[in-house]
Amino acid sequence: MSKRIGVLALQGDFIEHQAALSKIGIHSMEVRLPEQLDDLDGIIIPGGESTTISKLMDIYNIRDRLKKCIDDGLAVWGTCAGMILLAKYLEEPDPIPLQVMNITVSRNAYGRQRDSFETDVNITQLGPNPYHAVFIRAPKITDIGSKVEILASLQDGGPIAVRENNLLATSFHPELTNDLRFHSFFMGIV
Ligand code: GLN
Repeated sequence: MSKRIGVLALQGDFIEHQAALSKIGIHSMEVRLPEQLDDLDGIIIPGGESTTISKLMDIYNIRDRLKKCIDDGLAVWGTCAGMILLAKYLEEPDPIPLQVMNITVSRNAYGRQRDSFETDVNITQLGPNPYHAVFIRAPKITDIGSKVEILASLQDGGPIAVRENNLLATSFHPELTNDLRFHSFFMGIV
């Protein structure tokens, strides 16, 4: 049976995630309302502005149901702002994250917009070819819980892609490149 994948479509680059999924043959649904979470097998929280997405989660009244679905095992992948929203702990006071993944995150910790960068990283799970990772005002993972698996790190050792059971988080943006391996990897988790 084909999997039902949603992309949280409150703000940010959800269209780019949907385009990447469709290139690997996955039809996805835009999710804004709590009832749209019903019967999903996986959901992506895109990059964007985490404070705005967090506020809109409350305005659309989707926060509690989304958190419960993830706690109950819904596969979720957060990219950049999406990773900030998955974190259990944030070094900054804003926004209020969903607090579902055992990581501590610091927003904009790689610098401001002009410090955005791209680099090739090795990700064993994606095969031998390096993965081109795009960082835009990216958050840094400053601490991880014992059950969190590091999938990729920068040369300085800082983790940039992590997994904890049904939860996947990347500080970079796979939806902004033509390399679809990360989207396929998420579908493997789903
Ligand atoms: N810096 C943004 C935030 O704090 C995230 C940037 C991004 O998603 N590209 O929400």
